[in-house]
Amino acid sequence: MTISNEQLRLVNRQIERLVASDNFYGRKLREAGITGVATEEEFEKLPFSQKQDLRDAYPLGLMAVPEEEIVRIHSSSGTTGVPVIIPYTKKDVEDWAIMFARCYEYAGITPHDRIQITPGYGLWTAGIGFQAGCERLGAMAVPLGPGNTDKQLQMMMDLKTTVLCATSSYALLLAEEIAKRGIGDRIHLKKGVIGSERWGDKMRARIRKELGIELYDIYGLTEIYGPGIGINCKYNTGMHIWEDYLYVEIIDPQTGKNVPDGEWGEIVLTTLVKEGAPLIRYRTHDISRIIPGECPCGSHHPRIDVIAGRSDDMMKIKGVNVFPKQIEEVLASFPELSSEYQIRISHLDGRDTMRIYVETNGTVDFADMARRVTERVKSRIGFSPLVKVVELGVLPRSEKKSKRVIDERFE
Ligand code: ZN
Repeated sequence: MTISNEQLRLVNRQIERLVASDNFYGRKLREAGITGVATEEEFEKLPFSQKQDLRDAYPLGLMAVPEEEIVRIHSSSGTTGVPVIIPYTKKDVEDWAIMFARCYEYAGITPHDRIQITPGYGLWTAGIGFQAGCERLGAMAVPLGPGNTDKQLQMMMDLKTTVLCATSSYALLLAEEIAKRGIGDRIHLKKGVIGSERWGDKMRARIRKELGIELYDIYGLTEIYGPGIGINCKYNTGMHIWEDYLYVEIIDPQTGKNVPDGEWGEIVLTTLVKEGAPLIRYRTHDISRIIPGECPCGSHHPRIDVIAGRSDDMMKIKGVNVFPKQIEEVLASFPELSSEYQIRISHLDGRDTMRIYVETNGTVDFADMARRVTERVKSRIGFSPLVKVVELGVLPRSEKKSKRVIDERFE
């Protein structure tokens, strides 16, 4: 990735705005004596912003404009301590809708589509983002919000919705429910726009097969507008990130240094035109990589790969760094297993153990299956897990982001 002159110009405008506002980042800049950046090298020396900075600014310390310009706030789920509040100006809200409408367009969605929105509404950025983009595009929003599967399916049939917006786990749940009820011929879905939760190829293949739809991955996070800052196009070669609104970097999460295009690392985002709460070099903790080269669609917006995990998901087990993606890849190599799994790490009798729960159907010998999975995981990560094979459907499906790794050592 190279930062363009136009992007540098926008960064300098953001720096000015931040210094004038004297918010946490403005103070960082002032203390470091930074008034602007002239080159990419200088840009890459700017301090990072972190989730903790945002928490420290609770409730409204991020605000970089006078309060009368703020029209809305959103908040990230505060499951781990103090929540983060992001203030938006009228322009921020509009920009977000423009980006989101562009996402739908990249997915080939038009004003003739009916879009069923299942993510939640409220403080959280999901539902309203999907809706604002839909209205901006001119399609028909069917705003169900989360849960109530009976109602979801009824509306899907009666309104003949053509696009489903959901998390991958909820899309899978709906797909399974449609198959179970034998109502597939009454469903008119053509496309799914799926939130950027980490999900494997296998799950994707299953949703695609059960529902017979094209799938698009949408990316975003509350701190940076919300979902809608990028999506894959029909060539499915990674998610295009809107370069007129954001600058993307990939860094090594340990050293903080930028890595070459194509290498995996942590996504760092800079907002280029945000007013309410501009963020410079924000560490997302999402793991991906820049996809080098050009997309066959001809778009100049750079691409990142599917989110492979969280930099803080890295598990240290028996002294070895293990990443959930590694386990997921091994499991995906067994066609007999479903896309669901659960990893439990515990500390028993003075040592770490990793248990992996996998699902299969009754035609497979469970003991033999467990033995084969154990061997293949061991050859990948260097130690043997305890593999438990269970019946198909036993592992939890969730309407929220699935929690597939449970570390019981610190509970
Ligand atoms: Zn493309």
